[in-house]
Amino acid sequence: MFIAGAWSEAKSGAEFGVLNPATGEEITTVPDGGQEAAKRAIDAAHAAFQSWKHTTAYQRAEILRRAYDLMIERKEHLARTMTEEQGKPIKAARTEVQYGADYLLWFAEEAKRNYGETIPSARADQRFIVLHQPVGVVAAITPWNYPVSMITRKVGPALAAGCTVVLKPAEATPLCAIETFKILIDAGVPDGVINLVTALDPKPIGEEFCTNPKVRKLTFTGSTAVGRMLAGKAAANMKRVSCELGGHAPFMVFKDADPVHAAKGAQAVKFLNTGQACISPNRMYVHKSAEDAFLSTLSSRVSKLKAGSGFEEGVAIGPLVNPAAVDKVARQVEDAAAKGAEIVTGGKRLTEGDLGRGYFYAPTVLHGVDPSMDIYREETFGPVAPVITFEDEEEALALANDTEYGLAAYVYTRDITRAMRMFEGLEFGIIGINDINPTSAAAPFGGWKNSGLGREGAREGLGEYLETKMGGFSI
Ligand code: ADP
Repeated sequence: MFIAGAWSEAKSGAEFGVLNPATGEEITTVPDGGQEAAKRAIDAAHAAFQSWKHTTAYQRAEILRRAYDLMIERKEHLARTMTEEQGKPIKAARTEVQYGADYLLWFAEEAKRNYGETIPSARADQRFIVLHQPVGVVAAITPWNYPVSMITRKVGPALAAGCTVVLKPAEATPLCAIETFKILIDAGVPDGVINLVTALDPKPIGEEFCTNPKVRKLTFTGSTAVGRMLAGKAAANMKRVSCELGGHAPFMVFKDADPVHAAKGAQAVKFLNTGQACISPNRMYVHKSAEDAFLSTLSSRVSKLKAGSGFEEGVAIGPLVNPAAVDKVARQVEDAAAKGAEIVTGGKRLTEGDLGRGYFYAPTVLHGVDPSMDIYREETFGPVAPVITFEDEEEALALANDTEYGLAAYVYTRDITRAMRMFEGLEFGIIGINDINPTSAAAPFGGWKNSGLGREGAREGLGEYLETKMGGFSI
Protein backbone atom coordinates (compact mmCIF):
# COMPACT_ATOMS: atom_id res chain seq x y z
CA MET A 1 0.00 0.00 0.00
CA PHE A 2 1.10 3.58 -0.37
CA ILE A 3 0.01 5.96 2.39
CA ALA A 4 1.23 9.47 3.23
CA GLY A 5 4.16 9.20 0.84
CA ALA A 6 5.48 5.82 2.02
CA TRP A 7 5.03 2.20 0.99
CA SER A 8 3.24 0.53 3.81
CA GLU A 9 2.24 -2.90 5.12
CA ALA A 10 -1.04 -3.64 6.86
CA LYS A 11 -0.83 -2.93 10.62
CA SER A 12 -1.72 -6.57 11.23
CA GLY A 13 0.93 -7.73 8.75
CA ALA A 14 -1.82 -9.56 6.79
CA GLU A 15 -1.32 -10.21 3.10
CA PHE A 16 -3.28 -11.87 0.30
CA GLY A 17 -2.25 -13.68 -2.87
CA VAL A 18 -2.53 -12.36 -6.41
CA LEU A 19 -3.37 -15.12 -8.87
CA ASN A 20 -2.61 -15.63 -12.56
CA PRO A 21 -6.04 -16.51 -14.02
CA ALA A 22 -4.47 -18.42 -16.93
CA THR A 23 -2.74 -20.89 -14.59
CA GLY A 24 -4.33 -20.47 -11.16
CA GLU A 25 -0.82 -19.91 -9.75
CA GLU A 26 0.02 -17.29 -7.15
CA ILE A 27 2.18 -14.49 -8.57
CA THR A 28 2.95 -12.73 -5.30
CA THR A 29 1.25 -11.36 -2.20
CA VAL A 30 0.22 -7.81 -1.30
CA PRO A 31 -0.86 -6.15 1.96
CA ASP A 32 -4.39 -6.82 3.12
CA GLY A 33 -5.39 -3.46 4.52
CA GLY A 34 -8.59 -3.02 6.46
CA GLN A 35 -10.63 -0.09 7.67
CA GLU A 36 -7.67 1.15 9.70
CA ALA A 37 -5.55 1.52 6.56
CA ALA A 38 -8.39 3.31 4.77
CA LYS A 39 -8.68 5.74 7.68
CA ARG A 40 -4.94 6.41 7.69
CA ALA A 41 -4.99 7.01 3.95
CA ILE A 42 -7.94 9.39 4.20
CA ASP A 43 -6.17 11.34 6.96
CA ALA A 44 -3.08 11.62 4.74
CA ALA A 45 -5.14 12.74 1.74
CA HIS A 46 -6.97 15.28 3.88
CA ALA A 47 -3.72 16.74 5.23
CA ALA A 48 -2.17 16.90 1.77
CA PHE A 49 -5.23 18.60 0.29
CA GLN A 50 -4.51 21.72 2.34
CA SER A 51 -1.42 22.46 0.22
CA TRP A 52 -2.22 20.59 -3.02
CA LYS A 53 -5.32 22.72 -3.56
CA HIS A 54 -3.11 25.80 -3.70
CA THR A 55 -0.87 24.50 -6.50
CA THR A 56 -1.50 26.05 -9.89
CA ALA A 57 -3.17 24.21 -12.72
CA TYR A 58 0.15 24.54 -14.57
CA GLN A 59 2.07 22.75 -11.82
CA ARG A 60 -0.47 19.92 -11.72
CA ALA A 61 -0.54 19.69 -15.50
CA GLU A 62 3.23 19.30 -15.58
CA ILE A 63 3.14 16.36 -13.17
CA LEU A 64 0.36 14.66 -15.14
CA ARG A 65 2.25 15.22 -18.37
CA ARG A 66 5.37 13.60 -16.85
CA ALA A 67 3.23 10.69 -15.67
CA TYR A 68 1.98 10.26 -19.24
CA ASP A 69 5.54 10.14 -20.56
CA LEU A 70 6.59 7.63 -17.90
CA MET A 71 3.59 5.41 -18.59
CA ILE A 72 4.49 5.30 -22.27
CA GLU A 73 8.12 4.53 -21.37
CA ARG A 74 7.02 1.69 -19.11
CA LYS A 75 4.27 0.44 -21.40
CA GLU A 76 5.76 -3.01 -21.95
CA HIS A 77 6.35 -3.61 -18.25
CA LEU A 78 2.82 -2.51 -17.32
CA ALA A 79 1.31 -4.57 -20.13
CA ARG A 80 3.15 -7.70 -18.99
CA THR A 81 2.02 -7.11 -15.40
CA MET A 82 -1.55 -6.81 -16.70
CA THR A 83 -1.45 -9.97 -18.79
CA GLU A 84 -0.03 -11.88 -15.86
CA GLU A 85 -2.56 -10.82 -13.22
CA GLN A 86 -5.63 -10.06 -15.37
CA GLY A 87 -5.17 -12.45 -18.29
CA LYS A 88 -5.84 -10.34 -21.39
CA PRO A 89 -3.67 -10.99 -24.46
CA ILE A 90 -0.48 -8.93 -24.39
CA LYS A 91 -1.47 -6.89 -27.46
CA ALA A 92 -4.74 -5.89 -25.79
CA ALA A 93 -2.81 -5.09 -22.61
CA ARG A 94 -0.54 -2.70 -24.54
CA THR A 95 -3.60 -1.04 -26.05
CA GLU A 96 -5.07 -0.57 -22.60
CA VAL A 97 -1.90 0.98 -21.20
CA GLN A 98 -1.97 3.48 -24.07
CA TYR A 99 -5.66 4.18 -23.37
CA GLY A 100 -4.84 4.64 -19.68
CA ALA A 101 -1.98 7.00 -20.47
CA ASP A 102 -4.27 9.01 -22.76
CA TYR A 103 -6.32 10.05 -19.72
CA LEU A 104 -3.21 11.43 -18.02
CA LEU A 105 -2.38 13.51 -21.08
CA TRP A 106 -5.95 14.64 -21.63
CA PHE A 107 -6.35 15.82 -18.03
CA ALA A 108 -2.90 17.43 -18.02
CA GLU A 109 -4.40 19.62 -20.74
CA GLU A 110 -7.86 20.03 -19.22
CA ALA A 111 -6.40 21.11 -15.87
CA LYS A 112 -5.71 24.47 -17.48
CA ARG A 113 -9.27 24.85 -18.74
CA ASN A 114 -11.12 24.98 -15.44
CA TYR A 115 -12.92 28.16 -16.49
CA GLY A 116 -15.33 30.17 -14.38
CA GLU A 117 -18.07 32.53 -15.46
CA THR A 118 -19.41 36.01 -14.87
CA ILE A 119 -23.17 36.41 -14.96
CA PRO A 120 -24.99 39.70 -15.51
CA SER A 121 -27.15 40.80 -12.60
CA ALA A 122 -30.47 42.66 -12.73
CA ARG A 123 -29.04 45.05 -10.13
CA ALA A 124 -26.68 47.75 -11.38
CA ASP A 125 -24.58 47.50 -8.21
CA GLN A 126 -24.20 43.72 -8.28
CA ARG A 127 -21.82 41.28 -10.00
CA PHE A 128 -22.04 37.50 -10.07
CA ILE A 129 -18.87 35.46 -10.42
CA VAL A 130 -18.76 31.67 -10.56
CA LEU A 131 -15.66 29.64 -9.94
CA HIS A 132 -14.97 25.93 -9.69
CA GLN A 133 -12.83 24.59 -6.87
CA PRO A 134 -11.62 21.05 -6.11
CA VAL A 135 -14.17 19.02 -4.21
CA GLY A 136 -11.58 17.71 -1.70
CA VAL A 137 -10.59 14.17 -0.75
CA VAL A 138 -11.73 11.67 -3.38
CA ALA A 139 -12.25 7.99 -2.56
CA ALA A 140 -11.98 5.80 -5.64
CA ILE A 141 -12.85 2.13 -6.15
CA THR A 142 -11.83 0.47 -9.41
CA PRO A 143 -12.47 -2.88 -11.11
CA TRP A 144 -10.15 -5.59 -12.46
CA ASN A 145 -11.22 -5.71 -16.11
CA TYR A 146 -9.35 -2.55 -17.19
CA PRO A 147 -6.93 -2.36 -14.27
CA VAL A 148 -4.82 0.60 -15.43
CA SER A 149 -7.16 2.85 -17.41
CA MET A 150 -9.94 2.74 -14.83
CA ILE A 151 -7.43 4.20 -12.37
CA THR A 152 -6.07 6.98 -14.60
CA ARG A 153 -9.61 7.89 -15.67
CA LYS A 154 -10.32 8.80 -12.03
CA VAL A 155 -6.94 9.85 -10.64
CA GLY A 156 -6.11 11.97 -13.74
CA PRO A 157 -9.06 14.36 -13.43
CA ALA A 158 -8.97 14.33 -9.62
CA LEU A 159 -5.36 15.52 -9.60
CA ALA A 160 -6.01 17.98 -12.43
CA ALA A 161 -8.84 19.52 -10.43
CA GLY A 162 -6.65 19.84 -7.31
CA CYS A 163 -8.17 16.97 -5.32
CA THR A 164 -6.30 14.34 -3.33
CA VAL A 165 -7.11 10.65 -3.68
CA VAL A 166 -7.42 7.38 -1.82
CA LEU A 167 -7.71 4.45 -4.22
CA LYS A 168 -8.83 0.92 -3.54
CA PRO A 169 -8.21 -1.23 -6.61
CA ALA A 170 -9.93 -4.55 -7.23
CA GLU A 171 -8.57 -7.44 -5.18
CA ALA A 172 -7.78 -9.36 -8.40
CA THR A 173 -5.49 -6.68 -9.85
CA PRO A 174 -3.51 -4.81 -7.18
CA LEU A 175 -0.23 -5.14 -9.11
CA CYS A 176 -1.39 -2.89 -11.96
CA ALA A 177 -2.44 -0.34 -9.34
CA ILE A 178 0.97 -0.53 -7.66
CA GLU A 179 2.79 -0.02 -10.99
CA THR A 180 0.50 2.89 -11.88
CA PHE A 181 1.22 4.47 -8.51
CA LYS A 182 4.98 4.12 -9.02
CA ILE A 183 4.59 6.12 -12.21
CA LEU A 184 2.62 8.89 -10.51
CA ILE A 185 5.10 9.02 -7.64
CA ASP A 186 8.08 9.17 -10.01
CA ALA A 187 6.31 11.92 -11.93
CA GLY A 188 6.40 14.05 -8.78
CA VAL A 189 2.99 13.76 -7.13
CA PRO A 190 3.67 15.05 -3.59
CA ASP A 191 3.35 12.90 -0.46
CA GLY A 192 -0.19 12.24 0.70
CA VAL A 193 -1.80 13.45 -2.54
CA ILE A 194 -2.34 9.90 -3.79
CA ASN A 195 -2.81 6.95 -1.48
CA LEU A 196 -3.30 3.29 -2.28
CA VAL A 197 -5.06 0.77 -0.06
CA THR A 198 -5.08 -2.86 -1.17
CA ALA A 199 -7.52 -5.25 0.48
CA LEU A 200 -8.98 -8.70 -0.03
CA ASP A 201 -12.30 -7.76 1.54
CA PRO A 202 -13.58 -4.51 0.04
CA LYS A 203 -16.48 -4.03 2.45
CA PRO A 204 -14.79 -2.28 5.40
CA ILE A 205 -12.93 0.02 3.01
CA GLY A 206 -16.17 0.88 1.20
CA GLU A 207 -17.81 1.54 4.56
CA GLU A 208 -15.04 3.95 5.56
CA PHE A 209 -15.13 5.71 2.18
CA CYS A 210 -18.90 6.28 2.44
CA THR A 211 -18.99 7.45 6.04
CA ASN A 212 -15.72 9.25 6.83
CA PRO A 213 -16.55 12.97 6.91
CA LYS A 214 -13.16 13.84 5.39
CA VAL A 215 -14.14 12.12 2.13
CA ARG A 216 -16.05 14.50 -0.12
CA LYS A 217 -16.50 12.42 -3.20
CA LEU A 218 -16.85 8.75 -4.06
CA THR A 219 -16.06 7.53 -7.55
CA PHE A 220 -16.79 3.92 -8.34
CA THR A 221 -16.52 1.60 -11.33
CA GLY A 222 -17.92 -1.90 -10.96
CA SER A 223 -21.16 -3.81 -10.80
CA THR A 224 -24.55 -2.12 -10.55
CA ALA A 225 -25.39 -3.98 -7.32
CA VAL A 226 -22.30 -2.73 -5.48
CA GLY A 227 -22.53 0.75 -7.04
CA ARG A 228 -26.13 1.13 -5.96
CA MET A 229 -25.29 0.08 -2.41
CA LEU A 230 -22.27 2.41 -2.16
CA ALA A 231 -24.05 5.34 -3.82
CA GLY A 232 -26.90 4.96 -1.33
CA LYS A 233 -24.54 5.02 1.65
CA ALA A 234 -22.53 7.92 0.28
CA ALA A 235 -25.71 9.86 -0.50
CA ALA A 236 -26.82 9.51 3.11
CA ASN A 237 -23.70 11.50 3.97
CA MET A 238 -24.21 13.92 1.05
CA LYS A 239 -21.01 12.92 -0.65
CA ARG A 240 -20.64 13.63 -4.34
CA VAL A 241 -20.90 10.38 -6.25
CA SER A 242 -20.03 9.19 -9.72
CA CYS A 243 -20.55 5.62 -10.80
CA GLU A 244 -19.75 3.71 -13.93
CA LEU A 245 -21.68 0.45 -13.69
CA GLY A 246 -22.91 -2.52 -15.65
CA GLY A 247 -24.26 -2.55 -19.17
CA HIS A 248 -26.27 -4.71 -21.51
CA ALA A 249 -25.39 -3.28 -24.90
CA PRO A 250 -27.59 -3.95 -27.91
CA PHE A 251 -25.82 -4.43 -31.23
CA MET A 252 -28.29 -3.74 -34.06
CA VAL A 253 -27.79 -4.83 -37.65
CA PHE A 254 -30.32 -3.42 -40.09
CA LYS A 255 -31.26 -4.77 -43.49
CA ASP A 256 -29.35 -2.02 -45.31
CA ALA A 257 -26.09 -2.80 -43.48
CA ASP A 258 -23.35 -4.99 -44.91
CA PRO A 259 -23.91 -8.10 -42.76
CA VAL A 260 -20.37 -9.39 -43.24
CA HIS A 261 -18.81 -6.09 -42.17
CA ALA A 262 -21.21 -5.95 -39.21
CA ALA A 263 -20.35 -9.52 -38.18
CA LYS A 264 -16.64 -8.71 -38.26
CA GLY A 265 -17.29 -5.70 -36.03
CA ALA A 266 -19.48 -7.79 -33.72
CA GLN A 267 -16.76 -10.39 -33.32
CA ALA A 268 -14.07 -7.80 -32.65
CA VAL A 269 -15.99 -5.87 -30.00
CA LYS A 270 -17.78 -8.78 -28.33
CA PHE A 271 -14.69 -10.87 -27.67
CA LEU A 272 -12.42 -8.04 -26.62
CA ASN A 273 -11.12 -8.79 -23.11
CA THR A 274 -13.01 -12.12 -23.38
CA GLY A 275 -16.27 -10.18 -23.15
CA GLN A 276 -15.35 -8.71 -19.78
CA ALA A 277 -16.23 -5.10 -20.58
CA CYS A 278 -19.17 -2.98 -19.50
CA ILE A 279 -19.66 -1.84 -23.12
CA SER A 280 -19.52 -5.37 -24.51
CA PRO A 281 -22.54 -6.19 -26.75
CA ASN A 282 -24.89 -8.50 -24.88
CA ARG A 283 -27.77 -8.74 -27.37
CA MET A 284 -27.25 -8.82 -31.13
CA TYR A 285 -30.45 -7.83 -32.94
CA VAL A 286 -30.11 -8.81 -36.57
CA HIS A 287 -32.65 -8.15 -39.32
CA LYS A 288 -34.13 -11.34 -40.76
CA SER A 289 -32.71 -10.61 -44.22
CA ALA A 290 -29.16 -10.22 -42.84
CA GLU A 291 -29.36 -13.15 -40.45
CA ASP A 292 -27.74 -15.92 -42.54
CA ALA A 293 -24.75 -13.91 -43.72
CA PHE A 294 -24.23 -12.35 -40.29
CA LEU A 295 -24.46 -15.60 -38.41
CA SER A 296 -22.22 -17.59 -40.72
CA THR A 297 -19.51 -14.90 -40.75
CA LEU A 298 -19.69 -14.43 -36.99
CA SER A 299 -19.64 -18.11 -36.12
CA SER A 300 -16.87 -19.02 -38.52
CA ARG A 301 -14.66 -16.22 -37.13
CA VAL A 302 -15.53 -17.00 -33.51
CA SER A 303 -14.81 -20.71 -33.90
CA LYS A 304 -11.27 -19.82 -35.01
CA LEU A 305 -10.45 -17.68 -31.96
CA LYS A 306 -7.63 -19.25 -29.99
CA ALA A 307 -7.88 -19.41 -26.21
CA GLY A 308 -4.89 -19.55 -23.90
CA SER A 309 -2.37 -17.58 -21.92
CA GLY A 310 -2.24 -13.96 -23.02
CA PHE A 311 1.53 -14.32 -23.50
CA GLU A 312 1.09 -16.96 -26.24
CA GLU A 313 1.32 -15.86 -29.85
CA GLY A 314 -2.04 -15.70 -31.62
CA VAL A 315 -4.19 -15.98 -28.50
CA ALA A 316 -7.36 -13.86 -28.73
CA ILE A 317 -9.31 -15.30 -25.81
CA GLY A 318 -7.73 -14.99 -22.39
CA PRO A 319 -9.07 -16.55 -19.23
CA LEU A 320 -12.02 -15.20 -17.30
CA VAL A 321 -11.13 -13.53 -14.04
CA ASN A 322 -12.04 -16.37 -11.67
CA PRO A 323 -13.96 -19.67 -11.43
CA ALA A 324 -17.18 -17.86 -10.44
CA ALA A 325 -17.07 -15.92 -13.71
CA VAL A 326 -16.82 -19.18 -15.67
CA ASP A 327 -19.74 -20.63 -13.68
CA LYS A 328 -21.88 -17.58 -14.47
CA VAL A 329 -21.24 -17.85 -18.21
CA ALA A 330 -21.87 -21.61 -18.17
CA ARG A 331 -25.12 -21.11 -16.28
CA GLN A 332 -26.38 -18.48 -18.76
CA VAL A 333 -25.53 -20.68 -21.76
CA GLU A 334 -27.15 -23.77 -20.21
CA ASP A 335 -30.27 -21.77 -19.35
CA ALA A 336 -30.52 -20.39 -22.90
CA ALA A 337 -30.00 -23.82 -24.47
CA ALA A 338 -32.59 -25.40 -22.16
CA LYS A 339 -35.10 -22.74 -23.25
CA GLY A 340 -34.51 -23.37 -26.95
CA ALA A 341 -31.47 -21.33 -28.05
CA GLU A 342 -29.16 -23.00 -30.54
CA ILE A 343 -25.45 -23.17 -29.65
CA VAL A 344 -23.90 -22.34 -33.03
CA THR A 345 -20.33 -22.61 -31.78
CA GLY A 346 -18.61 -22.96 -28.40
CA GLY A 347 -20.90 -23.49 -25.44
CA LYS A 348 -18.49 -25.28 -23.13
CA ARG A 349 -15.75 -24.84 -20.58
CA LEU A 350 -12.24 -25.27 -21.98
CA THR A 351 -10.25 -27.74 -19.95
CA GLU A 352 -7.94 -29.52 -22.39
CA GLY A 353 -4.22 -29.48 -21.60
CA ASP A 354 -2.89 -26.30 -20.01
CA LEU A 355 -6.29 -24.63 -20.27
CA GLY A 356 -7.48 -26.86 -17.44
CA ARG A 357 -5.30 -24.95 -14.98
CA GLY A 358 -6.97 -21.61 -15.74
CA TYR A 359 -10.50 -20.21 -16.02
CA PHE A 360 -11.42 -20.63 -19.66
CA TYR A 361 -14.73 -20.72 -21.52
CA ALA A 362 -15.08 -21.31 -25.25
CA PRO A 363 -16.03 -18.30 -27.38
CA THR A 364 -19.69 -18.92 -28.07
CA VAL A 365 -22.45 -17.85 -30.46
CA LEU A 366 -26.09 -18.45 -29.50
CA HIS A 367 -28.92 -18.16 -32.00
CA GLY A 368 -32.63 -17.79 -31.29
CA VAL A 369 -32.23 -16.05 -27.95
CA ASP A 370 -35.50 -14.72 -26.52
CA PRO A 371 -36.69 -12.69 -23.51
CA SER A 372 -37.39 -15.80 -21.41
CA MET A 373 -33.66 -16.49 -21.12
CA ASP A 374 -31.43 -15.11 -18.33
CA ILE A 375 -28.84 -13.92 -20.84
CA TYR A 376 -31.44 -11.63 -22.39
CA ARG A 377 -31.48 -9.43 -19.26
CA GLU A 378 -28.38 -10.28 -17.20
CA GLU A 379 -24.97 -8.88 -18.00
CA THR A 380 -22.78 -11.81 -19.15
CA PHE A 381 -19.22 -10.47 -18.77
CA GLY A 382 -17.98 -13.39 -20.81
CA PRO A 383 -17.36 -14.61 -24.38
CA VAL A 384 -20.94 -15.24 -25.50
CA ALA A 385 -22.70 -13.55 -28.42
CA PRO A 386 -26.50 -14.00 -28.29
CA VAL A 387 -28.21 -13.39 -31.65
CA ILE A 388 -31.87 -12.37 -31.89
CA THR A 389 -33.78 -11.87 -35.14
CA PHE A 390 -36.09 -8.90 -35.81
CA GLU A 391 -38.08 -7.56 -38.74
CA ASP A 392 -39.33 -4.10 -37.80
CA GLU A 393 -37.20 -1.04 -36.90
CA GLU A 394 -39.58 0.33 -34.30
CA GLU A 395 -39.86 -3.04 -32.62
CA ALA A 396 -36.06 -3.42 -32.59
CA LEU A 397 -35.61 0.00 -30.98
CA ALA A 398 -38.16 -0.84 -28.30
CA LEU A 399 -36.41 -4.16 -27.60
CA ALA A 400 -33.00 -2.48 -27.46
CA ASN A 401 -34.28 0.04 -24.91
CA ASP A 402 -36.07 -2.61 -22.85
CA THR A 403 -33.34 -2.97 -20.23
CA GLU A 404 -32.50 -1.48 -16.86
CA TYR A 405 -29.08 -0.59 -18.29
CA GLY A 406 -28.10 2.30 -20.55
CA LEU A 407 -24.36 2.33 -21.18
CA ALA A 408 -23.43 1.49 -24.79
CA ALA A 409 -25.35 0.60 -27.96
CA TYR A 410 -24.13 -0.23 -31.45
CA VAL A 411 -25.94 0.28 -34.76
CA TYR A 412 -25.01 -0.93 -38.22
CA THR A 413 -26.88 0.79 -41.05
CA ARG A 414 -26.01 2.61 -44.26
CA ASP A 415 -29.18 4.69 -44.18
CA ILE A 416 -28.31 8.09 -42.71
CA THR A 417 -31.86 8.82 -41.64
CA ARG A 418 -32.11 5.53 -39.80
CA ALA A 419 -28.75 6.17 -38.17
CA MET A 420 -30.06 9.49 -36.86
CA ARG A 421 -33.34 7.92 -35.66
CA MET A 422 -31.38 5.31 -33.73
CA PHE A 423 -28.86 7.82 -32.37
CA GLU A 424 -31.71 9.91 -31.01
CA GLY A 425 -33.98 7.05 -29.94
CA LEU A 426 -31.59 4.78 -28.04
CA GLU A 427 -31.58 5.38 -24.28
CA PHE A 428 -27.85 4.85 -23.80
CA GLY A 429 -24.90 7.10 -23.00
CA ILE A 430 -22.56 5.86 -25.73
CA ILE A 431 -23.72 5.02 -29.26
CA GLY A 432 -21.47 3.49 -31.91
CA ILE A 433 -22.86 4.05 -35.40
CA ASN A 434 -21.02 1.63 -37.70
CA ASP A 435 -18.32 2.04 -35.07
CA ILE A 436 -17.17 -0.55 -32.56
CA ASN A 437 -14.82 1.69 -30.61
CA PRO A 438 -16.76 4.79 -29.55
CA THR A 439 -14.44 5.60 -26.64
CA SER A 440 -11.55 8.01 -26.15
CA ALA A 441 -10.12 10.17 -23.37
CA ALA A 442 -11.64 13.12 -25.26
CA ALA A 443 -15.17 11.69 -25.34
CA PRO A 444 -17.60 11.50 -22.39
CA PHE A 445 -17.96 7.94 -21.08
CA GLY A 446 -20.90 6.97 -18.90
CA GLY A 447 -24.34 5.50 -18.74
CA TRP A 448 -28.02 6.25 -18.43
CA LYS A 449 -30.43 4.45 -16.11
CA ASN A 450 -28.82 1.77 -13.90
CA SER A 451 -25.51 2.06 -15.75
CA GLY A 452 -24.35 4.93 -13.62
CA LEU A 453 -24.06 8.55 -12.63
CA GLY A 454 -21.79 11.17 -14.15
CA ARG A 455 -19.26 11.00 -16.96
CA GLU A 456 -15.58 10.16 -17.19
CA GLY A 457 -13.06 11.59 -19.64
CA ALA A 458 -13.82 14.57 -21.88
CA ARG A 459 -14.62 18.05 -20.58
CA GLU A 460 -17.25 16.61 -18.24
CA GLY A 461 -14.68 14.38 -16.53
CA LEU A 462 -12.99 17.30 -14.81
CA GLY A 463 -16.30 18.74 -13.65
CA GLU A 464 -16.99 15.61 -11.61
CA TYR A 465 -14.16 16.65 -9.27
CA LEU A 466 -15.11 20.31 -8.91
CA GLU A 467 -17.54 22.20 -6.72
CA THR A 468 -19.28 25.32 -7.98
CA LYS A 469 -18.90 28.50 -5.98
CA MET A 470 -20.97 31.56 -6.75
CA GLY A 471 -20.06 34.99 -5.48
CA GLY A 472 -22.48 37.91 -5.44
CA PHE A 473 -20.49 41.16 -5.17
CA SER A 474 -22.12 44.44 -4.25
CA ILE A 475 -20.05 47.33 -5.51
P1 ADP B 1 -17.21 -7.19 -10.48
O1 ADP B 1 -18.44 -8.02 -10.42
O2 ADP B 1 -16.92 -6.61 -11.79
O3 ADP B 1 -16.04 -7.76 -9.76
P2 ADP B 1 -17.62 -5.49 -8.22
O4 ADP B 1 -18.60 -4.40 -8.17
O5 ADP B 1 -17.80 -6.65 -7.32
O6 ADP B 1 -17.61 -5.89 -9.73
O7 ADP B 1 -16.15 -4.94 -8.04
C1 ADP B 1 -15.70 -3.71 -8.47
C2 ADP B 1 -14.94 -3.05 -7.37
O8 ADP B 1 -15.82 -2.87 -6.27
C3 ADP B 1 -13.76 -3.86 -6.83
O9 ADP B 1 -12.72 -2.97 -6.48
C4 ADP B 1 -14.33 -4.49 -5.59
O10 ADP B 1 -13.36 -4.78 -4.61
C5 ADP B 1 -15.24 -3.39 -5.11
N1 ADP B 1 -16.31 -3.85 -4.19
C6 ADP B 1 -17.05 -4.97 -4.27
N2 ADP B 1 -17.90 -5.04 -3.23
C7 ADP B 1 -17.71 -3.93 -2.48
C8 ADP B 1 -18.27 -3.41 -1.27
N3 ADP B 1 -19.23 -4.05 -0.62
N4 ADP B 1 -17.78 -2.24 -0.80
C9 ADP B 1 -16.82 -1.57 -1.44
N5 ADP B 1 -16.27 -1.99 -2.59
C10 ADP B 1 -16.69 -3.16 -3.11
